[in-house]
Amino acid sequence: MVKLDAKIPKGPLADKWDNYKSSVKLVSPANKKKLDIIVVGSGLSGASSASSLGEMGYNVKVFCFQDSPRRAHSVAAQGGMNAAKNYKNDGDSHYRLFYDMIKGGDFRAREANVYRAAQVSTQTIDHFVALGVPFARDYGGMLETRSFGGVQVSRTFYAKGQTGQQCLLGTYSSLSRQVAKGTVKMYPRQTMLDLVIIDGKARGIITRNQLTGEIERHSAHAVVLATGGYGTVFYLSTLALGSNASAAWAAHKKGALFANPSFIQIHPTSIPVLNEYQSKLTLMSESLRNDGRVWVPKEKGDKRHPNKIQENERDYYLERRYPAFGNLVPRDVASRAAKERCDAGYGIGDTGLAVYLDFNNAIAKQGKKAIEDKYGNLFEMYRKITGINPYEEPMRIYPAGHYTMGGLWVDYNLMTTIPGLYSVGESNFSEHGANRLGAASLMQCSGDGYFILPYTIADYLADEIRTPKIPTETPEFEEAENVSREKIEKLMNIQGKQTATSFHRRLGKILWDHCGMVRSADGLEKAIIMIDELEDEFWNDLKIPETAGEYNQELEKAVRVADFFEVGRLMCQDALERNESCGAHFRSEFQTEQGEAKRNDKEFAYVSAYEYNGNKKKETLHKEPLVFENVELKERSYK
Ligand SMILES: Cc1cc2nc3c(=O)[nH]c(=O)nc-3n(C[C@H](O)[C@H](O)[C@H](O)COP(=O)(O)OP(=O)(O)OC[C@H]3O[C@@H](n4cnc5c(N)ncnc54)[C@H](O)[C@@H]3O)c2cc1C
Repeated sequence: MVKLDAKIPKGPLADKWDNYKSSVKLVSPANKKKLDIIVVGSGLSGASSASSLGEMGYNVKVFCFQDSPRRAHSVAAQGGMNAAKNYKNDGDSHYRLFYDMIKGGDFRAREANVYRAAQVSTQTIDHFVALGVPFARDYGGMLETRSFGGVQVSRTFYAKGQTGQQCLLGTYSSLSRQVAKGTVKMYPRQTMLDLVIIDGKARGIITRNQLTGEIERHSAHAVVLATGGYGTVFYLSTLALGSNASAAWAAHKKGALFANPSFIQIHPTSIPVLNEYQSKLTLMSESLRNDGRVWVPKEKGDKRHPNKIQENERDYYLERRYPAFGNLVPRDVASRAAKERCDAGYGIGDTGLAVYLDFNNAIAKQGKKAIEDKYGNLFEMYRKITGINPYEEPMRIYPAGHYTMGGLWVDYNLMTTIPGLYSVGESNFSEHGANRLGAASLMQCSGDGYFILPYTIADYLADEIRTPKIPTETPEFEEAENVSREKIEKLMNIQGKQTATSFHRRLGKILWDHCGMVRSADGLEKAIIMIDELEDEFWNDLKIPETAGEYNQELEKAVRVADFFEVGRLMCQDALERNESCGAHFRSEFQTEQGEAKRNDKEFAYVSAYEYNGNKKKETLHKEPLVFENVELKERSYK
């Protein structure tokens, strides 16, 4: 029987982390050298974890499916990274950042973890500056900041619209330093297929070498998953195409509980779907809403060129509905408001599924150069994709699948329910409740890796110093390898007619329609049946060309899609169980008269954590009650 213990340290909120650090067990330098740690993932969370653990003296092996850690999806992050530095003297503090995140997440996150994330945010920015990340600076040379949704301070540090790229390069440099020192060994082009558990503890992984098709065994004293989010479950999303749930799902099948699977963020400002052959959507960063104004024509079906529509004929609906936060309301609120306008017939363009994001006023006030300095690369990206020059006419945007607040359940140590298995960054569920605030993910990923895991992992490893190197010639490794081989053989042997991509597209549509921005009990029940049927079809009619013993991207996709069916079904189960609306989880049956999310704190102030019972079997729901001692639970208002 799984018992959820969040292991939150005692004491006042602001002191918990300092007290914890002073009392947590330590591993001596001599013993660290004897301990092996596997890190799966080399994005901001994985590379920061690995470089810190390597610097501390552990032996670290890092796996990723790209050819280089620099290509992890984190490279795509655009708008910035939060830190409660209060450089603008606008009233920011650790508590304020903590409060904004708790409120932004609609009171569905654990207080202690969120407060700690706010605390380490300030160290994280200093660390990146020391690594040489070229954050924007003002004329006097001080670090510049901007605002993001759901906050009234300016705490987001940025490098144009390439913050993720610059931070990942900084982190890659610290990782490379460890590789050169021999404390970290990189294993690129490897896909993790399974987790190996020996005597109840995570002791290794099974991987597939993507270039040769070879199945490999790797052992360690602890395993860290830093494998990112599963927003690609929708097929069309703002994520990198390779982002997936498979590593986390393998751990879930082996006993790691999966938390809040239905909490998925739909980002309001993606370039809209242009045609049905599209395989990817491109984000236009939330930072653009600092200067861009969102509007639709006041007249339904107004097909005039946007520049011909006069000021008094435009409905700046976010400013109208949410005067206190205006265009900078949080993402869930902005996305639903765009959907509401489009569903009511005010959407623009051929599909009617788009709204305008307009920089005309900002350019008139600040000049084109100022806007170019802040967002130049995003404007260029938009122009290249759409052929429209956003300096001259408004961008067209629409919500798209983006970020997963759900993920592996972890305690305060970032350990899952499997001893010795950790999860950091977007792959865990821990800090964003039902809706993540913009620029809070890079902050969490780097905070987890640079400043939290290096302490918390010692709490476990201190008891492992007498455990010799873990051998891979054991029945547990044998069995996990066989299961992985059988799964691949089964997929290869179907020899049907339809590609993995075609199934993925259909699965994504089911989830987008029924478990996307708005959900209902009826729609979710139907979706589960449709997913079951589609999954049967997949296992009977999948086509994978070529063989498994070579570079085969179709096989890689098929492995991911096979897992996405199960993930999608759990998302629907979770969305059905949660009979309330909160953050990004909006059930049409539970809304206020003004169409806002209606929480039910009495019955649902908990984290849902699911236990796997076998494919197509309903998962067992465990509840971690959320205790709020430092904030008052209120209806979230941005008016
Ligand atoms: C377009 C876009 C813009 C964004 N902009 C911002 C922003 O401005 N600010 C912000 O805070 N957040 C932003 N985010 C969110 C943020 O980028 C991500 O949440 C964050 O980068 C995730 O980092 P990570 O380390 O958890 O995972 P990732 O960077 O996704 O890395 C995952 C790693 O795991 C590896 N991996 C995955 N599965 C396997 C497997 N089965 N086997 C082996 N390896 C595996 C991959 O190879 C990769 O190395 C943005 C997201 C998107 C989509």
